[in-house]
Amino acid sequence: NSFTQYELQEDILRALDMLGYKEPTNVQQKVIPKALKGQDVIVKARTGSGKTAAFGIPLCELVDWEENKPQVLVLTPTRELAAQVKDDIIHIGRFKRINAVALYGKQPFAKQKNELKQKSHMVVGTPGRVLDHIEKGTLSLEKVKYLVIDEADEMLHMGFLEQVESIIERVPKQRKTMLFSATLPANIEKLGRKYMIDPDYLEV
Ligand code: AMP
Repeated sequence: NSFTQYELQEDILRALDMLGYKEPTNVQQKVIPKALKGQDVIVKARTGSGKTAAFGIPLCELVDWEENKPQVLVLTPTRELAAQVKDDIIHIGRFKRINAVALYGKQPFAKQKNELKQKSHMVVGTPGRVLDHIEKGTLSLEKVKYLVIDEADEMLHMGFLEQVESIIERVPKQRKTMLFSATLPANIEKLGRKYMIDPDYLEV
């Protein structure tokens, strides 16, 4: 059981090797094949399960390096998680030269605006700041093909539902969506039904 069972570019496999990831974790075994096929998924998984790489690996694989505008948008409830996810993606995508930008509050808007002017394959951020960049025209969602809603239950606990919905509605419809949550209460299922296409439910 190793990552070589998936059709991953040499650049990605080399990075996983360097990170010391020998075998896919449970959640990765379930999510990676579905994500590579473009299947929408709702995943019940906790922090520590390897959930970040479960979406980070297939999305680093699927990203088109040539495209300058963001192709992946990841929404997280906290700044800490946004920064962590960005770092993980940079590590997984290092040999493919994937660039990821983190957008969150309490950091100068202008700095992030400048980062977004560079080629950025993936954007990871908290709902408020992401919306701010969309509204000010510094973040284009035109080329986004993959949307990840991470720690969805936390996001709703923190009162971000309205902002999350407002962002989802601006992402092109021809996208794939992956939702991760430690718990799946009714409001999360509802979000899934409203914005995802025939999602598979995966539980670890
Ligand atoms: P996460 O659940 O995404 O917060 O990941 C928890 C920890 O597991 C992080 O420190 C990852 O670097 C690590 N990790 C993720 N996938 C693997 C893997 N396949 N093998 C070993 N460690 C991993």
